[in-house]
Amino acid sequence: MRALAAGIALMLVPLQALAFDYQLTAREIAPDTYVVPGRMEHFNRANGGNIVNTGFIVTTAGVVVIDSGPSLDYGRQLRQLIGTVTDRPVRLVLITHAHPDHYLGNGAFGDVAISALDGTRAEIAGAPPALLDGIYRLVGDAMAGTTLVPPTGVVTEGPLVVGDHGFELLALDGHTRSDLAVLDRTTGVLFAGDIAFLDRTPTTPQADIEHWLAALDRLRALPAKLVVPGHGPVAPPPQAFDQTAAYLTWLREALAAAAARGLDAAEVIDMKLPEDFAGLAVARAEFARTVAHLYPTFERSVLSDK
Ligand SMILES: [Zn+2]
Repeated sequence: MRALAAGIALMLVPLQALAFDYQLTAREIAPDTYVVPGRMEHFNRANGGNIVNTGFIVTTAGVVVIDSGPSLDYGRQLRQLIGTVTDRPVRLVLITHAHPDHYLGNGAFGDVAISALDGTRAEIAGAPPALLDGIYRLVGDAMAGTTLVPPTGVVTEGPLVVGDHGFELLALDGHTRSDLAVLDRTTGVLFAGDIAFLDRTPTTPQADIEHWLAALDRLRALPAKLVVPGHGPVAPPPQAFDQTAAYLTWLREALAAAAARGLDAAEVIDMKLPEDFAGLAVARAEFARTVAHLYPTFERSVLSDK
């Protein structure tokens, strides 16, 4: 019997040890304000999907978390990390948009209000379970136990006061159909979500370039002192916005010109990238994905002009 129990214990220990260690660190960037930086990579087994910046703000009424990360384990480890900084409870999780690296940690915050713009909430609620299978294939065991947990609440554009921090919420779109940005007026820190990328090529599976550029203009007009992009290092404005705006502007012109010349997608994918963008993280691979996402629209618009 004792041998049997020991055998069971041996089987259980390795299972426990399988939890992926994200080695998350919290960087204090302003009073009460922390960023948990992700890697400038695509999803893979070595990074466990941690390619995203999350953040949190410690208010007198509890902690506000910005995005829950790419998996249940990430969400749990983020919550543990928050517990090393403050003993105040997590009060609210805000999800910036419905891309899986930003919200699949929601399961670790099931006892907390999780809020997003209504479009984001609806998109996560309607996400097909196959989405999880696709990410499992990319990151493997780090996804263990991860389920789709939609936000429980909806936020709208305007002020939001939590304890001693006064936030301004912005309802934008362009990176996706529904992009939330969060300005903390108390500190001047702007969490831009994926409206801003820095030193990492923007992703475009749902992009609308015109709307995205308009969203960047709205962020530029805010009284922010420091910007946390969805991916890449924290930077002051306007530096935090210029690169994404320049890339999107170039993309629009390059894809329109290629369509006008009648190039096919394979030829566009082989196009030389301008020096300013060729050195961005995952440039080549992300540009190829972008051509697949966006080029058909440019080709159709050339056809309809004829
Ligand atoms: Zn993202």
